[in-house]
Amino acid sequence: GVDDALLTVDGLRKEFGGITALDGASVDVGRGVTGLIGPNGAGKTTLFNCITGFLEPDGGQVRFGGEDITGVRPAALAQQGLVRTFQIPRELESMTVRENLLLATPEQFGERLTGAWRRGERFADDERRARRRAAETAEFFELDHLLDEPAGNLSGGQRKLLELARALLTDPDMLLLDEPMAGVNPSLQRKILDRIHDLEERGYAFLLVEHDIDVIMEHCERVIVLHRGEQLTAGTPEEVRSDERVVEAYLGGD
Ligand code: ATP
Repeated sequence: GVDDALLTVDGLRKEFGGITALDGASVDVGRGVTGLIGPNGAGKTTLFNCITGFLEPDGGQVRFGGEDITGVRPAALAQQGLVRTFQIPRELESMTVRENLLLATPEQFGERLTGAWRRGERFADDERRARRRAAETAEFFELDHLLDEPAGNLSGGQRKLLELARALLTDPDMLLLDEPMAGVNPSLQRKILDRIHDLEERGYAFLLVEHDIDVIMEHCERVIVLHRGEQLTAGTPEEVRSDERVVEAYLGGD
């Protein structure tokens, strides 16, 4: 494990019918950028969903900043500083990038849109501050020229940047990103990775779940390999790459 783990998963279990998706998975995630990889069916998505409160595990514990967060719903997690990115909901696609950023309150994450609207109104109490932060965040992600554009008009990569911007506006300590590079062209991939590294330097922690192993190996300080619902190994990219068991797990299928 890591000495200064922020997120700790201990013996997590999840079954679907007769299928064991998580078989007592234990992982530690510290500061910096950590990658989670594993062959198809290893349990990555299930682990991600159990950590972020979208699935209730059958057993085991998740702790964040020392607190037990097992089964805590996404909106409450965001308030504790753990946030995941979300695809821009269809209802928000007709709204501009600016409006999407103004609605990015912690409570909104994991809540239904109706809740977001209500809270969006409340957020408007502090409208000047909210607008300034939205503008600064748009600039940081180079979305400022798109502020008045409906979110539905953005390219795949621009959407990923907007999703990241929305998550960042909830003031998290740790961001969990599910497939941040999927369907993104190389130049925007580079931009997303640059921003992640900028934010890492400012003290934000990241957990990236990615199919693209090369991206993970190049950009993460620490890599966790999941296999058959458990951690197979974890370490630096070099350690993981030279681990025979990792090679076997990928070659052997599930
Ligand atoms: P991939 O890389 O293919 O996305 P993964 O590592 O994310 O895989 P999971 O999607 O977590 O793995 O799946 C782990 C196991 O649990 C697989 O055998 C999968 O078929 C099964 N599984 C996941 N979700 C469900 C579900 N809702 N119902 C039934 N089985 C499921």
